[in-house]
Parts: sequence; structure tokens; C-alpha cells
Amino acid sequence: MIGAGVVGLAAARALALAGREVIILEAEDTIGTHTSSRNSEVIHAGIYYPAGSLKARLCVQGRERLYRYCMEHGVPYARCGKLIVATDAAQLDELEAIRAKAQANGVTDLVRISAAQALAMEPELHCVAALHSPSTGIIDSHTLMLAYLGDAEEAGAMLALKSPLLRARVRDRRIELEVGGAEPMRVAARTVVNSAGMTAPSVARRIEGYPPEMAPPEFYAKGNYYTLARRSPFSHLVYPVPEPGGLGVHVTLDLGGRARFGPDVEWIERIDYTVDPGRAKRFYAAIRRYWPGLPDGALEPGYAGIRAKTSGPGEPASDFVVQGPAQHGVAGLVNLFGIESPGLTASPALAEAVLAAID
Ligand SMILES: Cc1cc2nc3c(=O)[nH]c(=O)nc-3n(C[C@H](O)[C@H](O)[C@H](O)COP(=O)(O)OP(=O)(O)OC[C@H]3O[C@@H](n4cnc5c(N)ncnc54)[C@H](O)[C@@H]3O)c2cc1C
Repeated sequence: MIGAGVVGLAAARALALAGREVIILEAEDTIGTHTSSRNSEVIHAGIYYPAGSLKARLCVQGRERLYRYCMEHGVPYARCGKLIVATDAAQLDELEAIRAKAQANGVTDLVRISAAQALAMEPELHCVAALHSPSTGIIDSHTLMLAYLGDAEEAGAMLALKSPLLRARVRDRRIELEVGGAEPMRVAARTVVNSAGMTAPSVARRIEGYPPEMAPPEFYAKGNYYTLARRSPFSHLVYPVPEPGGLGVHVTLDLGGRARFGPDVEWIERIDYTVDPGRAKRFYAAIRRYWPGLPDGALEPGYAGIRAKTSGPGEPASDFVVQGPAQHGVAGLVNLFGIESPGLTASPALAEAVLAAID
């Protein structure tokens, strides 16, 4: 396994439980320091994605498995529900389109509510109508990763930190891996799962014997978050109608009830997690469309995450790619590309998809 983010750990767990000998190579000095700890921590219902897409199917499957897993393994979560709000009449058609999309994806519990009903749920909210999604929730993603890792280790998996995969080559139905870091090593594996997150396409291109043209381009879309310097006025997640490249600057809550706002969409060339305080002005404007009472000076720069995009600015959003030998012809290699949102929610289902792609 290359990468100890939430998806790599879920897949490592599934492989170890299936009786395989698993080594997880992680470049950093601990697990989940990139996208898996820099997101909204929302358990998505599966509303927005094109019908039949992997994102739609794996989100809906993953969500229920994830709730069950959290319950059984003591991973903190809350099924707090979410409101998707139309803030002017021009967005009402869009709300209806979202509802139809959700229905096609098997999300059957989404309910259209009036402004008055929304206000009864969230007194500080402004909207002209909303959709209520009762099956959306929040999760402690770090505890989830520790639980996946614990299961994997109990089933015999080994985690190697500070162990970046440098390059690999395909030899006689084995893949030879050259690992760098403080204790460089070479490992020969029958199966390699490339779960390197946003850099997975460039990692794949460093595997000699893998057709490089099969790896998609790598684009980074940063999402910045701002936090609120007081208790959240909301008890539900609140989302505007989506914007190109992301879901729009929404309110997410952590399990302590604190609100964070984001993520916006900033296309970048290099991995860089700094949050530019200069973006605050745009956040105030976006948030005040649904929360006019946001006081001046209430927002503080928070953190940022980077979406693993395989399509660039202005292009249609691409789907998750689980690419196995059937697609690229290299026995034992599975690449995970474009695992942006809802990858956290879909992690249990993505793990099953990895198992299926190997055989
Ligand atoms: C702003 C934002 C908000 C999001 N919000 C949500 C949400 O609310 N709900 C949801 O379901 N999903 C959400 N997502 C998506 C979700 O966070 C990701 O799909 C998920 O975290 C991806 O996990 P991963 O394991 O694929 O990647 P990562 O967490 O990035 O893990 C990849 C790992 O691979 C390691 N690595 C890279 N190269 C090498 C190498 N050469 N050798 C060894 N190790 C290597 C990295 O160090 C890293 O630890 C969001 C994403 C973003 C960016």
C-alpha cells in the first residue's frame, strides 16, 4: 500500500482482513497528514454526483457502512443533518435539479422545505427554500483512521512511516519498489495499491512498466477554511447551491459544535497549505448570503486542504478512478486517481473496489 491516508488505510484494512500480508508505505512521519486531515469531515449522503458515477455509488454504499463502522468501533460521529439553501428565487430550479439528482442516486430521504420551516430549524438562516438531508453527518476523521489502522495491524499489516516510494518497476509478475527515507529499502510485492492521494498520478508514472499515458493529469484545487471565533449559531450543516469546482462555502461543524466555513476553490500549482488572510472578504460575502448576521471580524483563517483533481479549471468534474490490471495490463497494480470528495465517506466502499480490481 502506498499512502496512509483514510483511503489507503481503509484498503490496507480490507486487504489484511482478506488474509494478505500488507506493508503500508507512508512518506510522512505519521498517518493522514494531507487531505485526510484537511477536509470538512462530513459524511455525505450522496446527493450531487452524476447518476451511475463511482462517486455516486461508492458514496451511498460507503455512507451506511461508515455509520455502522463508527457505531461498532466507537468512532465519534453525529448524524446532524444538512440544509442546502436557495438564497434567491433564481436558485429554486437548481434546488429542484439537486433533488432529482439525489433521487437518481438512491438518496430518497431528501425533503424540500419552505423558508419558514428552515427558519424554525435554524433561526439565524436566510433562504427562500431549502432541502433537508437527514442522512448527512459529521465524523472525527482522525479517530476513523486510527481505527482502520488498528484493524489492519491486528490482522498483521505493518506501517512504515517516513518511507516514501521513490520509484518501482514491474518484473516477472512482481513489482519491485524502491523506498527512500532514513532507512532506504527495496521490497518486491505481488500487489501494489497506489493510494498516494493528490500525487497518485505522478507516483504511477514512476512505475517502470506501467503505461504512463494511462495516468491522468494532476491538478490541485485548494480549499481554504475560516473558523468562527464564537459558538456556532447553527446545529445543522448549511450548504449553498454548489459552485464550479466545489460545493460552495458551507458551514460544517466539528463534534464540539464549533463552526468552520469553507472550502472555497483556489487552483494552485504546488502543494501549499497556507491560508491567505486576504481571502476573508470573499468569505464574508459568500456566508452573508445565507447568514446575514455574521458579525464583522468574526472569521479567523483556519486551515486548507487540496482536492486531488484530474480535470482542470473550467473542465467538467471527473469521477473517481479505480484502475486495475483490467485497464492498464500490469498484474497486481491498482491506482486510485481523483479521490477528492466524497472520498472520506466512500472509504469503506473504495476499499472493496480495490479488492475487486485486484482479482
Ligand atoms: C477541502 C476538502 C474537503 C473535503 N471534504 C470532504 C468531506 O467533507 N467528506 C468527504 O467524504 N470527503 C471530503 N473530502 C475528500 C477526502 O478528504 C479525500 O477523498 C480523502 O481524504 C482522500 O484520502 P487519500 O487517502 O486518498 O489521500 P491522502 O489523505 O492525501 O493520503 C495520501 C497519502 O499518501 C502519502 N504519499 C504520497 N506520496 C507518497 C509516496 N511516494 N510514498 C509514500 N507515501 C506517499 C501522503 O503522505 C499521504 O499521507 C474533502 C477534500 C478536500 C480537499
